[in-house]
Parts: sequence; structure tokens; C-alpha cells
Amino acid sequence: MEIIPALLPHLTGLRLEAVVVRGVGVRIDAATQTVQAQCGTCSTWSTTVHGRYVRRLADVRLGGHEVLVALTVRRFTCVNSECGRRTFVEQVPGLTRRHARHTVVAAGDLEAVAVALGGRPDSRLGSGWPCRSPARR
Ligand SMILES: [Zn+2]
Repeated sequence: MEIIPALLPHLTGLRLEAVVVRGVGVRIDAATQTVQAQCGTCSTWSTTVHGRYVRRLADVRLGGHEVLVALTVRRFTCVNSECGRRTFVEQVPGLTRRHARHTVVAAGDLEAVAVALGGRPDSRLGSGWPCRSPARR
């Protein structure tokens, strides 16, 4: 698994569990491995894990393959009694954003295409973006 951090440095710090190549797609199963996370509302650090789930994030293409990162993240309980949020999902700096379905790097590529095309990426170059299903093209 040494080659993955070299080719996809934004995955550094994650525990890489599997790389599955199927057809034109590559799925990278990974998990966070930090002990604590910071609440996005009150910035309090928490080590109290409420649960886990898998986020599916479209990533930058690798060798012509579409890449999907199946990232196991944890939902933490905010320990600040004055915070309005009871639980929050950990974010990985440089990789995830709240509610995003792309990695930060992939979103940056998509934004660059959108800016280059004057905000109409769907009309030309961006129509083949990996998150779009073939049926909608
Ligand atoms: Zn909080």
C-alpha cells in the first residue's frame, strides 16, 4: 500500500484497508485513525464516539480510473453542554468537507473547470465528471 500515499497524498493519515479495482473504477476503503475530533460548531474536542458510517467520496482520477474513497468516519458526541449540536461527524482536513460528496482535491478540480468555462461546466467539459451517472449524460 506504499504507492497509494505517493499517488494520492491527500489520503495520508488514513488507515488504508483495501484497494479494489473493478472495471474502470477503483474503490479505496479507508478509515480515520485519530483519537479525537473537534466540533464544527463550538470547536470543543471530543473523544466520545457516538457511531460510525461509511462516506462515499468521488476522488481525482488515477491512471484513467474513476476513484471512489469509501471512508469510515465517526460521529462524536459534543461534550460542551452549552453547544447546540449534540453530535457531529469528524472531518479530515484536506480531504472532506461537511456534506460534500467529493474529496477536497476533486472538488477543487471541478471548481477550476467551472471557472474556466464561465460557470457552465455541465455544458461542455465537466459533463463527464465521475459523480454523474451514465444515464444522465
Ligand atoms: Zn459543540
